[in-house]
Amino acid sequence: MRQWTATQMAKLARKASRAVGKKGTDLPGQVARKIDNRILRKLAAKVDEVVFISGTNGKTTTSNLIGHTLKANHIDIIHNNEGANMAAGITSAFIVQTTPQTKMAVIEIDEGSIPRVLNEMTPTKMVFTNFFRDQMDRFGEIDIMVNRIISAIEDKGIQLILNADDPFVSRLKIASSRITYYGMQKNAYSFEQSTMNESRYCPNCGRLLNYSYIHYNQLGHYQCECGFNRHTPDYEISTFTINPFIQLTINSHTFDMKIAGDFNAYNALAAYATLRELGLNDESIRKGFESYTSNNGRMQYFEGQKHKALINLAKNPAGMNATMAMGEKLKEKKVYVLSLNDFAADGRDTSWIYDADFEKLSNQDIEAIIVTGSRAEELQLRLKLAEVNVPIIIEKDIYKATAFAMNYHAFIVAIPNYTSLTPMLDQLERLFKEEQ
Ligand SMILES: [Zn+2]
Repeated sequence: MRQWTATQMAKLARKASRAVGKKGTDLPGQVARKIDNRILRKLAAKVDEVVFISGTNGKTTTSNLIGHTLKANHIDIIHNNEGANMAAGITSAFIVQTTPQTKMAVIEIDEGSIPRVLNEMTPTKMVFTNFFRDQMDRFGEIDIMVNRIISAIEDKGIQLILNADDPFVSRLKIASSRITYYGMQKNAYSFEQSTMNESRYCPNCGRLLNYSYIHYNQLGHYQCECGFNRHTPDYEISTFTINPFIQLTINSHTFDMKIAGDFNAYNALAAYATLRELGLNDESIRKGFESYTSNNGRMQYFEGQKHKALINLAKNPAGMNATMAMGEKLKEKKVYVLSLNDFAADGRDTSWIYDADFEKLSNQDIEAIIVTGSRAEELQLRLKLAEVNVPIIIEKDIYKATAFAMNYHAFIVAIPNYTSLTPMLDQLERLFKEEQ
């Protein structure tokens, strides 16, 4: 009865919160947990398989790729794909998506929420992507977090799916006897080396690790005098390329994906390892991997009858340069749509465009560049100074500018800044729906 009340109240809360225009991902869970503090435990007991995905970076992409591939194979799942990855959000997903047929849950979980959630329920599998120092500036914080996770998961019979290349993630092996490893061969790809202060010390004894190969940060092939070594992976990327989408070979199967960004290769690998452990074969995985695109305007791909487009948010020189570099890898003739707004959320100072290398566009096969947004003229001036010798069209209305790009028979590269993203993305979604 209490469970029924909690569930009904949670659904009402969701409706109310949606009615006032909020996503309503945390609120139903918060309400239900107040009424019945065992609600998550009870709902989780109704499914046979619960996969948790965690780590510093890449957990959303990994989780969405797993979820998308299962759905592409007509497997019903509970999935918190709106990124609500703490106790309340996870409870919401179970409440809203549980049906009598659903026997599997794929849940992204915030690293910090693991002890609390595992107090209430035990997943069957846990996937870990990486542990970076990103937001952890104090020395030793990764160790503290890893130890907390170990205490939460040990001796529960959970199958761990671990990144063999990350010593911090691999440290979790002491918490379970059922481990699956994934990793990348030496020279599989040449990542750009970061300049950040690395954490390449042994999580077992604290000595500096010896590396025979580094992919990036602390990810690579390492060994320690104490015997803490990289484990041989069960699933391994032998090679991958970016052009601009990822084509990767795992255990001698090649996948042509529709996601860009080299760091996503590890996420695809983590998803692959998980899906194989869930019993899917390579052909079933292919169905998901080759149709998955992001849906948030970050390296998002569109393909219609006549056009192809790629949109990527860029709000600083690094983002702009990375997107133009991706355009360079596209072999087709291109039309660029660049948008620059200067609203409060964008930051009023748009001078950063002078630090981006628009000069490099001269090397690309471009039919036209459409500039838009409230500061379209400034973009036009910047391109003139860069001596980019192609027709430049000004259309300050972002919707019209994006639609105008469809007049060309060229690959559309759309680069909006922060507040330009929604109008540009909405318009692309509408235009490509028409072209299906
Ligand atoms: Zn050691």
